[in-house]
Amino acid sequence: MRVLLVQSWLGGDGPPVYPVGLACLAASLPGHDVACVDPNVAADPMAELAAKVRAFAPDVVGVSLRNIDSTNTRVNVSYLPPFEAVLDTVRRDFSGPLVVGGSGFSMFAPRIMETHPAIDYGVYLEGELPFAALIEALAAGTGGDPAAVPSVYVRDADGTARLTSPAAPGAKNDLAGLPEPDFSVLPLAPYAAVPWGVGVETKRGCALSCLYCPYGFLNGKAYRKKDPKRVAESLYRLEHEQGLKRFTFLDSVFNVPADHARDVMRAMIARGVTLSWSAWFTERGLNREFLELARDAGCDTVIFSPDAYGDGALRKLGKAVTVAEIDAAYGLVRDMGCFEVSYNFFKNPPGQTLFAAAGMLAFLLRAKRQMGRRAHFEINTLRVEPHTALAELAAREGLIEPGADLLTPVTYSQQKTLYLDKFFNLLLRAAGK
Ligand code: SF4
Repeated sequence: MRVLLVQSWLGGDGPPVYPVGLACLAASLPGHDVACVDPNVAADPMAELAAKVRAFAPDVVGVSLRNIDSTNTRVNVSYLPPFEAVLDTVRRDFSGPLVVGGSGFSMFAPRIMETHPAIDYGVYLEGELPFAALIEALAAGTGGDPAAVPSVYVRDADGTARLTSPAAPGAKNDLAGLPEPDFSVLPLAPYAAVPWGVGVETKRGCALSCLYCPYGFLNGKAYRKKDPKRVAESLYRLEHEQGLKRFTFLDSVFNVPADHARDVMRAMIARGVTLSWSAWFTERGLNREFLELARDAGCDTVIFSPDAYGDGALRKLGKAVTVAEIDAAYGLVRDMGCFEVSYNFFKNPPGQTLFAAAGMLAFLLRAKRQMGRRAHFEINTLRVEPHTALAELAAREGLIEPGADLLTPVTYSQQKTLYLDKFFNLLLRAAGK
């Protein structure tokens, strides 16, 4: 089968991010002729997509819808219009099976299938195995049965979409059984200028339970770890065969479980990987010995997402961290002098107080004074995502209807401290964000 994989277009919003999902899918389709296209790095996105469809003449087109909108930005940007432009462009020259998958699709799958009849099949949750099985079923022609492939949306004769069989909890791809992503499917250069433009994963899953996060729904709570030597080999090849200079680890939290992260870093050092990298860390359990190993393995940027700076808000957000741990980890990173540090906070999350917000601002100013341009801060809006405890809280508080699909973005801002939301919006606007 000739399979064309397309990254959905973001309409020009934000810097490009290498579509690692397409690289994973491409690697999972041995024996098929696979091509990829990412309109996000094209000078004329839809014209180049149309040209690729005509030139490649695919049997199947798969579109990865990773992001529905810009999520936590002050002004939410919807990526559905550019997604629809992709579907329209593909359909203009292609009448075969059109498949959509990806994180964004999976979170809103029933609604997207209902409102976009151009889509024939939807791949639900992690895509490697169901997509490969779907391609085999389509390749078998009348002898194949896409409806027998688990975790796929198919259409009945009247066009109604249904999920073939819900993915059983924990029935996620065993990473040991999957090939490494094929990073040769698209050139790395257009993404390499962005510090987090190329991502590599060492595991999937997150055992933590942040209130707002759909990651557990998408990738499960159990850690599924890759062989550290395999990660190191993949990085070595990216560096020496494809000229990569830096990347970011895509793991939910790199330093949990810490033993696996240590093994990955030791394997990188042993293999002679000299790439620079960043990763998301949790403050809890972070110590100097771990950070020294990270530095020696090439880490130059530590990203934290404490989200709040008050113990009450941290508890309500489900963050496994305290203000004392935030301070201690900051001090370690600052004193080592070899890292940049990046923080994410929310303006007005559940449990926010004036005292905590003032503490967060004081922390920001202190870090800026002490680390200058090596300290970075994002102060975010809290979008309510489906399949999260925050959606349940928002329903209990009457902000949304229970079971609302949330495709149209709803943001959460604690009612009794709404003035903080307004205050931070003024600050962000003044900062041009
Ligand atoms: S640590 Fe990150 S991935 Fe895990 S639940 Fe929290 S926000 Fe989600």
